[in-house]
Amino acid sequence: MTSIGFIGTGNMGGPMARNLLKAGFKLSAYDVNADSLKSVVAAGAEAAASPNDAAAASDVVITMLPAGQHVASVYLGDTGIIAAVRPDTLLIDCSTIDVKTARDVARAAQNNGKQVLDAPVSGGTGGAEAATLTFMVGGSSTAFERARPILEKMGRTIIHTGGAGTGQAAKICNNMILGISMIAVGEAFVLAEKLGLEAQRLFDVASKSSGQCWSLTSYCPVPGPVPTSPANRDYKPGFAAELMLKDLLLSQAAAQQTTVDTALGQHAANLYESFVKAGNGGADFSGIIKMIREQRR
Ligand code: NAD
Repeated sequence: MTSIGFIGTGNMGGPMARNLLKAGFKLSAYDVNADSLKSVVAAGAEAAASPNDAAAASDVVITMLPAGQHVASVYLGDTGIIAAVRPDTLLIDCSTIDVKTARDVARAAQNNGKQVLDAPVSGGTGGAEAATLTFMVGGSSTAFERARPILEKMGRTIIHTGGAGTGQAAKICNNMILGISMIAVGEAFVLAEKLGLEAQRLFDVASKSSGQCWSLTSYCPVPGPVPTSPANRDYKPGFAAELMLKDLLLSQAAAQQTTVDTALGQHAANLYESFVKAGNGGADFSGIIKMIREQRR
């Protein structure tokens, strides 16, 4: 039976780890926060004493950590898991982090004769619970084919995006589109309100016209047209604004490194920064329509 070391059992990692246990894998789990481990241990995982303790004897190691600095500290250096694992162990980082750190980790793994994939996800905590996540996976084809049957126990759509770092690139480019399009849809609904056009009528037209997009038809930021959207539950997430801001800032760091001018991505990051600074970090990101409504030229 494949043994898996799982490091980082928070809001996303917890349910992902439980789905692997449900699928019959043997799991050794670690989190710096002992409380985060409880539900995973209750579901059958063994509690490890450190990242290396979880990783050293495992066939596969999965990490689900907050940001690049956490991933670097767990993977790199003499005491990191790259140095600790067996040569045949496959390392899979599912955290959303900057492309540069993902590539630093891949280079360190390669220099050490180990296989690593960057495999960030979309689908949120609901997708993690239901095992319907989308994985975007950067790394070698051989490593991808080894990872696929495991990722399929946590997700529904598994896409090989190319070489190291392209999983993270796919994630931040997708979320840059999402952040910009949510603001565009919010602005259109606020303008419609001021022009005396009912929200449902704008939805009826735009959802069948060239303004159609996911932010409108799956996640409409006004209550009514899409009953499942967070607008119908006072913008309870869903996908929290602070996570959208994190992803937009990652896209802007990458844009700066590559000297690409992503003017709308930068503007979206600025608007989400204002929204989060005003105390809305925990609200759903579609709640930015409230800030748009309050702003005046
Ligand atoms: P979280 O904060 O709930 O979980 C992260 C866990 O990592 C925590 O339990 C924390 O204690 C643990 N941790 C931190 N440093 C550690 C270390 N050095 N060793 C071991 N454990 C450590 O965050 P989350 O919501 O589960 O998100 C995890 C990642 O997934 C992030 O990169 C996030 O951007 C991404 N993501 C989140 C969502 C979402 O909706 N929450 C959706 C898609 C992607």
